[in-house]
Amino acid sequence: MAILKIRTDNDAILRKISRPVDKTTPRILTLLDDMRDTLCEANGVGLAAPQVGVLRRVVIIDSEEYGLIELINPEIISSEGCQNEAEGCLSIPGKWGITNRPMTVTVRALDREGNMKEYTGTGLLARAFCHEIDHLNGKLFTDPGTLVRYVTEDELIDDEDKDDIVKSHADIKS
Ligand SMILES: [Zn+2]
Repeated sequence: MAILKIRTDNDAILRKISRPVDKTTPRILTLLDDMRDTLCEANGVGLAAPQVGVLRRVVIIDSEEYGLIELINPEIISSEGCQNEAEGCLSIPGKWGITNRPMTVTVRALDREGNMKEYTGTGLLARAFCHEIDHLNGKLFTDPGTLVRYVTEDELIDDEDKDDIVKSHADIKS
């Protein structure tokens, strides 16, 4: 177990495409454990392996719906609706933005035992699925097509859904 360094800002690794995991080796299990420790320490909602410098298709998300979700080779198999809510990223400290995301997303992925699982998320969890899988493809929430506009921290706190937004801007950092 270890706290890993989170890559930030213009680190080139954040723009690379991660490779699928062929086999869940002890190394991948250690990566998952270390990512969990790192996410907890950073007080985020989600973390993708490239954010800690590992170009493999591995994601973790701390969700209300399912608890801690570990996703290996995740794929979005369906999505519907749309939402424009606030998002931040542990790799882009100090910036938040309203993004354009589907409202509901279903993801299929392997778990650490090699079982294929499906998870459906609405709202925050749907945003987190999209945000993390984007990381595996070298994309960030600040990219054109995703970012609607930047928001300031004050704007987030003035929002009527203050608690939710404060939580999501702290937590969805992912
Ligand atoms: Zn992120």
